[in-house]
Amino acid sequence: MKLTFRGAVRTVTGSLHEVEAQGRRYLVDCGLYQGRRAEARRRNEGFAFDPRSIDGVLLTHAHMDHAGRLPTLVRAGFDGPIWATAATRDLAAVMLRDSARIQESDAAYWNRKHPDEPIEPLYRAADAEAAVGRLAGVPYGRWFDLAGGVRALFLDAGHILGSAQVLVEVRSGALAAPRRVLYTGDLGRRDVPILRDPETAPVPVDALVMESTYGDRLHPRGEDMQRALAEAVGRAAERRGVVVVPAFSVGRTQRLVYHLHRLIDDHVLPPMDVVVDSPLSTDVTEIHRLHSECFDEEARGWLERGGDPFGFARLRYTRTSDESKALNARQGPLVIISASGMCESGRILHHLRQRLPDGRNLVLLVGYQAAGTLGRRLQEGASEVRIFGETVGVRAQVETVSGVSAHADRLGLEAHARSHRSGLGAVYVVHGEEDASLALARRLSADGLPGVMVPEEGRAYEL
Ligand SMILES: [Zn+2]
Repeated sequence: MKLTFRGAVRTVTGSLHEVEAQGRRYLVDCGLYQGRRAEARRRNEGFAFDPRSIDGVLLTHAHMDHAGRLPTLVRAGFDGPIWATAATRDLAAVMLRDSARIQESDAAYWNRKHPDEPIEPLYRAADAEAAVGRLAGVPYGRWFDLAGGVRALFLDAGHILGSAQVLVEVRSGALAAPRRVLYTGDLGRRDVPILRDPETAPVPVDALVMESTYGDRLHPRGEDMQRALAEAVGRAAERRGVVVVPAFSVGRTQRLVYHLHRLIDDHVLPPMDVVVDSPLSTDVTEIHRLHSECFDEEARGWLERGGDPFGFARLRYTRTSDESKALNARQGPLVIISASGMCESGRILHHLRQRLPDGRNLVLLVGYQAAGTLGRRLQEGASEVRIFGETVGVRAQVETVSGVSAHADRLGLEAHARSHRSGLGAVYVVHGEEDASLALARRLSADGLPGVMVPEEGRAYEL
């Protein structure tokens, strides 16, 4: 078995891993790289291998930094199956269509502003549709065959609805011992609302491919996060400001809605409207309702009693762009949650352009902001930023509330690696900025785990 790491190596986006066994080649994830425009363009356009030589894709979850290049892969000639859990298949279908819409409208907007240097969208609706047609749903916890001697198993990752870790097993002969590699995908946290906890593989694994987004950090306790959230939003409400929250449409948005709902119900926050401005959100919320098999007991109980973990009286979802534009006229106090989570594309850009110049407003960062993204520049205190090629002054407050994250922190990652210690021969640390990956690798090594390394992009490792 041969593992090659093609993306999300010493960086946090663009997950793309290759596994070769029994003469077949598979990918685990095929995600968009997010960062500075020119580099993102270069990394997202082509592949370092021939997509026609890939026999299948195993998709861990529907976030675009894991699934967002599937349309490009299919357009370049990939014609195999894309296996995912049933919930990931449904989420990925709406999210890939939405991603194509964003690619097309961002390119159109850019081209209107810069007619002398026009760009092509990365992909179009038809490419997304072709990728959606290759998605095949597989339940958690059931082995499925990829080819003779190669099979895979999805285990809950506890990160977002449908998220999975992928266990790949290869048998080279009837008598030979199987070799197994576990890809964690994005690993969630224990004891957060709605989702189940991450699972441990039911059999020993030879190699572990671990994410390390928060490999050098600890999350605050749940109640500390709630207090920080209440204080930041409460101060903005007193100023009658508008709170703009960039958030992924899936995962963090649902979690944030859940916390705001509780804070308003408990009178910690004044009654204020919360708008989730995303054409996706209604679809995504419906898909959550369809997949109660992914929920923990608390959320299932809530649903059975007729409750709604994803809505409350002061919450509105907007779908059309006219509804979105109408938000520009709204005065605070008001919370607008919109994608994308790192402010790289989508409706959030229009809200930032509208709200950044007013000192009463608050940009609330609740997710990881990768280097080179607009979100990171705001987080680092930029006094002006470029949006759609225009300079926008930043007078709004910018605050970060950590702990709303859907990722395990350093302790969670370490515990997960330790739970696979028996039989383990190698740990490849990926999906983190270099410092975070190296820090986690050092700690895992110090903990006595064998063969821990941060792999090099493009290099093949024999297992
Ligand atoms: Zn994710």
